[in-house]
Amino acid sequence: MEYSRNDKIFKKLNKKIESLSKENDFYGMAVVYYEMAHLVMEEGDDPQMYKDLGYKMKLKHQVDGLKSYQISGVVDEVECLVNIGSCSVCKKLKGEKLRLSDELSSPSIPVKHCENRYDGCRCTYIPIIE
Ligand SMILES: [Zn+2]
Repeated sequence: MEYSRNDKIFKKLNKKIESLSKENDFYGMAVVYYEMAHLVMEEGDDPQMYKDLGYKMKLKHQVDGLKSYQISGVVDEVECLVNIGSCSVCKKLKGEKLRLSDELSSPSIPVKHCENRYDGCRCTYIPIIE
C-alpha cells in the first residue's frame, strides 16, 4: 500500500505531538493540531476534532500563564494582546483590562468563536504591573 503525501505528513505530525507532549509544550501541540485540522480539511473530512484539540491545548497554555502571574503575587490585572490581522471577534478584546481572578475562572483567551479558520485564536495575555 502506498501512503499519500498527506498520510506521510500526518504521521510526522503525530510524532511531533508525542515529543511536544513529553516537553509539556501545549502551545506547540496546539499549532500541530491546527496543522492536522488543515490536512483533514484538505482530504474533505471534518476537521472539528483537531480544531477542538488545538483550542484545548491553547487554553491550557493560557491558563498556565495566568497561574504563573498569580504565583508571582504582583499581577492583579492582565491585558489582551490582539495580533495584527486578528478577526473581528478577537479585536473586541483589544486593550481590555481584565481582572486576573476573573480570567482564571473564565478565560477570555483563546477566543472560542475566533473566526481565524487556519489556526484559531492567536491572542495572548500580557500582565499589567503597577
Ligand atoms: Zn479571532
